[in-house]
Amino acid sequence: MKRKSTQCYLGLGSNIGDLKQNIDVAIKKISLLEDTQLIKVASFYLTKAWGNTRQQDFINTVISIKTKLEPNALLLVLQNIENEMGRVREEKWGPRTIDIDILLYEDIVVKQPQLTIPHPYLTERSFVLVPLFELDKTLVIPNQGQLVHFVEGKSHDNDIITII
Ligand code: ADP
Ligand code: MG
Repeated sequence: MKRKSTQCYLGLGSNIGDLKQNIDVAIKKISLLEDTQLIKVASFYLTKAWGNTRQQDFINTVISIKTKLEPNALLLVLQNIENEMGRVREEKWGPRTIDIDILLYEDIVVKQPQLTIPHPYLTERSFVLVPLFELDKTLVIPNQGQLVHFVEGKSHDNDIITII
């Protein structure tokens, strides 16, 4: 029996090539995944590289989808899209054509070596918090509290350059 559709939030980022086109292509590919529907797309944010700061600026956004795929199956198909789009994993937090992270999967908590949900850095990154908040101001991060508190706590940060 098929499970019901689950509301899920994905974070997308790109900092190699035509950034906007990379994000657009990834969103299109996600919308065509089996048992998956695209629901909402946040604005595209131009942001400073995080973690490893000596690299190109990024475009980041967040989308919401409904999917019947289980968390690990979803991770796998998203990694396939990253690979198809020419992502090469060279250095941690290095430049990438496309990065697709599972931020939230309904209110489910996953702690596995290859998959952590909510995404481990969700609450530390303005370029994730702000577009997520744009899509749903009432979100609650399982076990961590209301999204709005994390957004307010980050309001002094300036890693978001502009909305494009
Ligand atoms: P990052 O997204 O932190 O910049 P990567 O995209 O290179 O780094 O991801 C490294 C690993 O993170 C992946 O191989 C994946 O197994 C793991 N991972 C753990 N939790 C998640 C998640 N929620 N979404 C996507 N990848 C995740
Ligand atoms: Mg990633």
